[in-house]
Amino acid sequence: MTGTSLAGRRPADPAVVQVGVLLELAEEYRLAGDYRAGSGVARQAAELARAAGDATGQARGLRSLANQLLRLGEQEDAVTACREAVAVLEAAGDDAGVCEVLTLQALPLNELGMHEEALDALARARDIAQRLGDRDLLYWVHNRTGVVHGSMGDRGLSTTYLMRALTMADGMDAEARFCILNNVGDNAVHEVSRLRAEGDADGAEETLRRALGHVDEALGLARAAGNPFRESICLDNYGMLLALAGDFTAAARMIENSGAIAGIHGYRSLESAALQHQAHVRLMRGQPAAAIEGLLDALDRAREAGEKPMAMEILRELSEAYEQVGDFAAALGHYRAYHALEREAHNHVAAARARMAVHHFELDNARLETDNARLEAELHRVRSAELEAANLSWQRQASEDALTGLPNRRSVELRLPELVASAGPLCVAIADVDLFKGVNDRFGHFAGDEVLRQIAALLRDHVPEGDLVARFGGEEFLIAFGGLDLPDARARCELLRAQVAGYPWELLHPGLAVTISLGVAVVPGGGDLGAAMALADQRLYEAKHRGRNRVEAGPPPTA
Ligand code: GH3
Ligand code: MG
Ligand code: MG
Repeated sequence: MTGTSLAGRRPADPAVVQVGVLLELAEEYRLAGDYRAGSGVARQAAELARAAGDATGQARGLRSLANQLLRLGEQEDAVTACREAVAVLEAAGDDAGVCEVLTLQALPLNELGMHEEALDALARARDIAQRLGDRDLLYWVHNRTGVVHGSMGDRGLSTTYLMRALTMADGMDAEARFCILNNVGDNAVHEVSRLRAEGDADGAEETLRRALGHVDEALGLARAAGNPFRESICLDNYGMLLALAGDFTAAARMIENSGAIAGIHGYRSLESAALQHQAHVRLMRGQPAAAIEGLLDALDRAREAGEKPMAMEILRELSEAYEQVGDFAAALGHYRAYHALEREAHNHVAAARARMAVHHFELDNARLETDNARLEAELHRVRSAELEAANLSWQRQASEDALTGLPNRRSVELRLPELVASAGPLCVAIADVDLFKGVNDRFGHFAGDEVLRQIAALLRDHVPEGDLVARFGGEEFLIAFGGLDLPDARARCELLRAQVAGYPWELLHPGLAVTISLGVAVVPGGGDLGAAMALADQRLYEAKHRGRNRVEAGPPPTA
């Protein structure tokens, strides 16, 4: 595919203008939260741009599409859109674009549980960002790498990457800083528990202290931006960290606050997270009965919203809570349910992986097939053009005399009978160069050739367009005049003879003089061409006999 940048096109290109309008519309839908409409428009923009050969527009459409599919939870399609965008951007040589899309692609892959694939995409993105020396790209890659490691349960690596992103991203815009700070806070909640479980109390306290600072900053940023979604997330993280710090009252208040904001704005999954975390705090406070109540409520909501990862976490906590109250049967039941979901998730990942492999294989194949078809059509076009040219050249070679460019004897023999049949009375003349052997002998064969070419041009120039002049043999030419009677044809031949005789041959070679003799005969309408040719030939012989440089057309009319 040939990439054409938006900047390189005339602004008046209607397709590109329309792509631009569609992209703006898709962005408006996205900002309004109507991802269904937004993804439809983004898809249209990408299609239109592809048809117009506008690579930039196509890639922007595909990215917008991927972003909105991601919000719709259609992760497999989001991955596919990213893949297409990467192919387009690679072909257009837009490395920074490829890096951004790979970083984006890691998100739906991570959501699908395809962590290795997500890390692969991020490794490619990191290589590009480092090669370009682009810090902005690099901290986004680090941030997302941290998130993926966190999802994989590797909290240590997650912290490493997130902190790297945070230090790199000093002085970046508030939105980016919020995202990284928030990820750091979220990761710290898990990291602190892990460190404590491993007996690293000092490490846990240090991580907790730092994370509280980060979350506090993130909360300030979210409030300053007037973004309730972010505020709700921050409050939840903040509460969980406070609970880990032992401040259960403050923790409960924060998390309750988070749930209230989520409830007002309809953030379903944040609302169930708050419920679950509220229960988690109760469990930590040693109130397992109260925790169980909250967890069961949260489980209902998570199942309703189809939030399987959250449901799994709740089931595990329920099992723990039941164990604490001594209800081992319920604990085992919930543990089994947790385990079943985990197996299901695992199968789901395997199935998604297989489905996407098939889908991508088909896409690649389709792309290859289109490319092949295009190549084949091009090859076919070139071949037909070549064949046609060859054919024309063969036709010319077969009917044209190479030395003079006049029709050759073969084509005359094909055309003359036609002329006789269509043109009514016809006169044929045979012209023969006088003493041509002597020209060759005195001036050489090349000079002889040049004389033949010159005579051919003189004859051609002085015979009307519709009449026939051909090279008939070595130094013989044939002329056929349509619609002339014999005296007119004789006069025309007289003119030709005079043209040759009067030509300044000495300019070609000093001492060179050339004349021709002609014999003329008439072919009566529909008459015998062969007999007329024989008569013309006989009259040519007479012209030679009578001293050459003459026209013989038979005895003058008796009248
Ligand atoms: P006449 O007036 O009786 O026709 O004399 P002539 O010398 O023209 O007669 P003749 O037919 O014996 O000689 C024709 C010569 O034309 C013989 C041949 O070498 C020469 N000739 C035929 N074709 C070509 C050609 O393509 N190039 C050159 N340079 N000479 C040719
Ligand atoms: Mg001859
Ligand atoms: Mg001759």
